[in-house]
Amino acid sequence: MSINPTPLSSNFFSLASKSNLFSNLQNTISSFPLKPTVISLKPSNFPIQTRCVHSNSSRSSSSGEIHVIVGPMFAGKTTTLLHRVQAEISDGRSIAIIKSNKDNRYGLDSVVTHDGVKLPCCALSNLSSFRQKFGHDAYDKLDVIGIDEAQFFEDLYDFCREVADRDGKTVIVAGLDGDYLRRSFGSVLDIIPLADSVTKLSARCEICGKRAFFTLRKTEETQTELIGGADVYMPVCRQHYVSGQVAVEAAKMVLESQKVQCGSFV
Ligand SMILES: [Zn+2]
Repeated sequence: MSINPTPLSSNFFSLASKSNLFSNLQNTISSFPLKPTVISLKPSNFPIQTRCVHSNSSRSSSSGEIHVIVGPMFAGKTTTLLHRVQAEISDGRSIAIIKSNKDNRYGLDSVVTHDGVKLPCCALSNLSSFRQKFGHDAYDKLDVIGIDEAQFFEDLYDFCREVADRDGKTVIVAGLDGDYLRRSFGSVLDIIPLADSVTKLSARCEICGKRAFFTLRKTEETQTELIGGADVYMPVCRQHYVSGQVAVEAAKMVLESQKVQCGSFV
């Protein structure tokens, strides 16, 4: 497969392999080093099985799907998204990947995982502009749309609903479910009622190595959207999230009291 990042429509690609999607996805999940916690909205407790209710022949008509991958930073959300996208490509389906143009740490024309896997993508400020920028004809031929860093898209709900319900496409969404204060981040949780499956991934606690479900901000900045990597954030377990927040708050109070003291001498 050759990958050419420009122009936008070149991000539309398709392979004719006849490999089995179900086994590909199972392999993807089983080969993933961090075991995902799976919450299924259907009676089955394995989200991939929800695909079995759709036949391949009906996909191009009206059987859209929405799959959501959430978790803290460093949990492998982008890696999981790309593995699923690669499985779709292997199954002969046409895909496109969208990410936010707010996060330019790895360049705007590709999605890169922490372990270096790279696929071309469209970097946008909002999802509603995708169809026009990608091209209407190219859009109509798409089977699957992957969305990375979904917490940055305010129009996530409407986009996913229209793409899956109206246009019959599969949407695979990866994003942070919570911010550094464990509050709902953007619209990611809003699309869960729309979803076929939800997968919550965990990372490894940077302090004790246990499963980490939360992202601790190590610095004192307080805005919700602060783009950064391991220099700013670390994945932590519940115990170390709580103790880490206490430490960050204590450090902040010390810094603020120093500012007051400095001010009083002026
Ligand atoms: Zn820990």
